[in-house]
Amino acid sequence: MNSFTFKKKFGQNFLTDQNLLKSICQDAGISKTDEVLEIGPGMGALTKHLCKAGKKVVAYEIDVDLKDYLNSLEQDNLKVEFKDILKENIENIENNFKNNYKLVANLPYYITTPILFKFFNEAKKLESLTIMVQKEVGERMCAKVGETNYGALSVCCAFFGEPKIMRIVSKKMFHPQPDVDSCIVRLDFNKRFDVDKKSFFEIVKIAFKSRRKTLLNNFAEGLNLKKADIEKVDFDFSRRAENLTVDEFVWLTNIFGRFISAGEKNK
Ligand code: SAH
Repeated sequence: MNSFTFKKKFGQNFLTDQNLLKSICQDAGISKTDEVLEIGPGMGALTKHLCKAGKKVVAYEIDVDLKDYLNSLEQDNLKVEFKDILKENIENIENNFKNNYKLVANLPYYITTPILFKFFNEAKKLESLTIMVQKEVGERMCAKVGETNYGALSVCCAFFGEPKIMRIVSKKMFHPQPDVDSCIVRLDFNKRFDVDKKSFFEIVKIAFKSRRKTLLNNFAEGLNLKKADIEKVDFDFSRRAENLTVDEFVWLTNIFGRFISAGEKNK
């Protein structure tokens, strides 16, 4: 097996502590009937535990230099795809699974948000995600309305369920060691709102565009509407996005969603 050089450009921070790896599987609630998607298996540290706990694991890894390590795992319920998860079509990813699947990953931090939004926007069979993210990102994901960290990411997570920080993980647990601590966040996709998902995300993005501005200003700019027309709707538009609940964003999407330009919606 060739010696391996860590690649910063792929966000490679590997785990080795077996107790921690086992705990992550437990945090995800993986049982013998579960199909699991792992993003970024690296040398397979977490993968081994997932294969043991679950029924089937499909792992996407971008770095072909890890082929020897991953092929030597010899788990018969494991399939590794050497592909960039962001470039892979969601149908191709989901065709790997018979039923709903759980996403578990020690995510590459440099693309945490694009990965989250890929699955938020496109996934049809995702049951839950349990991911390692930077502590600060985890806090933003889990923030409740009124809290300092509450933002577009918190609202988008709360659209699907109630995200929870399952454990804080010290930066000392990684090789090479990153600059900041991390945490495991779990989000079960168990909420359903009667609204177009893509329009909802777009409205949230527009509402938070300039945090200090009122909804009136952000909507007028982002939706290209006259302020007087916005104010015809019975809602207090002098409020700021950071004070709105998910239900209020859903309500606003059902009214203003049709003003999102087609180009924005299909992005
Ligand atoms: N799961 C391993 C490694 C985590 S580091 C462990 O816990 O030890 C993040 C991993 O994601 C690396 O293996 C990196 O090569 C991989 N990765 C980075 N960008 C990726 C992408 N776009 N698609 C798939 N895998 C990616």
